[in-house]
Amino acid sequence: MKEHPRNRFDLTGKTAIVTGAGRGLGQAFAAGLAEAGANIVLVTNRTSAVETKAMVEAFGRKAHIVQVDVADRSKLPSIIDEAVETFGGLDILVNNAGIIRRAPAAEHAYSDWQEVLDVNLNSVFVLCQTAGKLMIEQGSGKIINIASVLSFQGGINVPGYTASKHAMAGLTKALANEWASKGVQVNAIAPGYMSTDNTEALRNDPVRNRQILDRIPAGRWGTDADLIGPAIFLASGASDYMNGHILCVDGGWMNR
Ligand code: NAP
Repeated sequence: MKEHPRNRFDLTGKTAIVTGAGRGLGQAFAAGLAEAGANIVLVTNRTSAVETKAMVEAFGRKAHIVQVDVADRSKLPSIIDEAVETFGGLDILVNNAGIIRRAPAAEHAYSDWQEVLDVNLNSVFVLCQTAGKLMIEQGSGKIINIASVLSFQGGINVPGYTASKHAMAGLTKALANEWASKGVQVNAIAPGYMSTDNTEALRNDPVRNRQILDRIPAGRWGTDADLIGPAIFLASGASDYMNGHILCVDGGWMNR
């Protein structure tokens, strides 16, 4: 072994973009990467990211808020430009923004299908492509796509969401194959059932809540804190030989 860095997980001096950073899991990703040393570009749409900014700054890092609807693909390159202008570069991209629309497949509105694909998949391709070009040029970079256990399973009443998350897993592998030799690692985290707004309807349904809990070996819903370690790992030099991996953080759900 040639090198023994003091902390393989250190992100000091790195710049990260986190989409959907105003609330939910994105807020935790932003704060977690800041805890490990990174300055963060907080991408938000309807939610104010002021609270997340304060969390990042409490770790002594800098935060810059960008308000963008990621479904508007013409606006996406400006996010990468702002990161470079504000912090002088880009090292980490976390594609976290996502939506879910619940309705049985036979009645699923096409507009819901389209909206989910625009937010969860199409924006991710454009952001990966734009960030990837810059990262290839500099010979380094980390992209973390936030997938789902529905990247592997069908789910119920969420056909658009499931399609988007399966496609995201495929995209992660496709980009990893092309960019691994260029120093850019593209991986994904597949959270299991986490307690956020996204899953509130499930937790409020006593039958579904019980069914879900009965299947999780860990016996509880996940929390945003459960995802911070895996995110720091995939953003840091500790994962330099990981490419196209979909890392399940699911309390054991996928083993059942
Ligand atoms: P959430 O609490 O519902 O938050 C969704 C986030 O996405 C918000 O920050 C929201 O920002 C952002 N967003 C939605 N539409 C957007 C748009 N058009 N433009 C920009 N940002 C947009 O969801 P979450 O549970 O934190 O989920 C975060 C990610 O994890 C998603 O990709 C989700 O699929 C994935 N995931 C979640 C779970 C879970 O159990 N919670 C499990 C597996 C995967 P605004 O508020 O500003 O609109």
